[in-house]
Amino acid sequence: MTSVLLLAGTTEATQLADRLVRERGVDVMSSLAGVTTSPAHRAGRVRTGGFGGAEGLIEYLVTQDFDAVIDACHPFAAVMPFNVAAAAVTTGIPLCRVLRSAWTPTPGDQWIEVADLRTAAAALESIEAERVLLTVGRQSTWAFVDSDAWFLVRAIEAPDAVPRHHQLHLARGPFSLEDELALLDEHKIDAIVTKNAGGASTEAKLLAARQLGIPVVMVARPEQPEVTTVPDVDQALAWLDEVVEPRSGSVPYQRGV
Ligand code: NAP
Repeated sequence: MTSVLLLAGTTEATQLADRLVRERGVDVMSSLAGVTTSPAHRAGRVRTGGFGGAEGLIEYLVTQDFDAVIDACHPFAAVMPFNVAAAAVTTGIPLCRVLRSAWTPTPGDQWIEVADLRTAAAALESIEAERVLLTVGRQSTWAFVDSDAWFLVRAIEAPDAVPRHHQLHLARGPFSLEDELALLDEHKIDAIVTKNAGGASTEAKLLAARQLGIPVVMVARPEQPEVTTVPDVDQALAWLDEVVEPRSGSVPYQRGV
């Protein structure tokens, strides 16, 4: 049976695990960092927690028998993609990164594009934002703890560090345009801060901002390693077809099921 180590933490990783197991009979080991206390259910095996850097990951790969590694970590995971790239070079195991396309501004958008979270906090001051929708994920709210503005902090789980003046709004996407418009109106939001995560499930806030003329402070993605990269689940499956010969005894591939 073909076996794959799947570095998870995204919608794409959950979808990939399900499709690899159900459509192709692949033995999937999903790896979670362990930052979310109630991660989404997924098909296949699951392990949780760091490997101990690139060295630890290399050790793990040489003691396991994976045919390939798929890195479906979040576009803002800044360490793991480099660790797995180094581990793939050392072990020779085929590696593919799943990286969804970034959002791009369209006419009518008022984006302030910044390189990092600290610059995002400074940008809010320079535009004199008073009521901010903060959607950067619970691990990134630390950058706004000294801001004077009031924040509606939307996250899946409560962050440890929160701005001085804030209200928590715990929610998991996808979010509809109608709901985003209502949320921005209800809280009289005058600026949004987001990471350029890309993807459809959290894009409605950008459409709502455009419609209401609200500025968006958009944090750019971190650098990515130079590895084979695909934008979605379908192309990750196609990549696996090309690099891995089905082992005898594995369930035959059923394309399009
Ligand atoms: P990171 O900076 O790239 O990784 C930090 C450390 O966490 C890594 O060095 C590794 O520890 C461990 N780690 C990360 N992903 C892992 C995985 N899939 N399996 C096992 N260990 C993992 O990543 P991060 O930004 O802290 O994100 C952690 C997880 O949350 C990732 O799975 C990511 O996809 C997900 N996530 C991140 C964001 C974000 O904005 N950063 C948003 C949504 C989801 P060792 O070095 O000990 O192996």
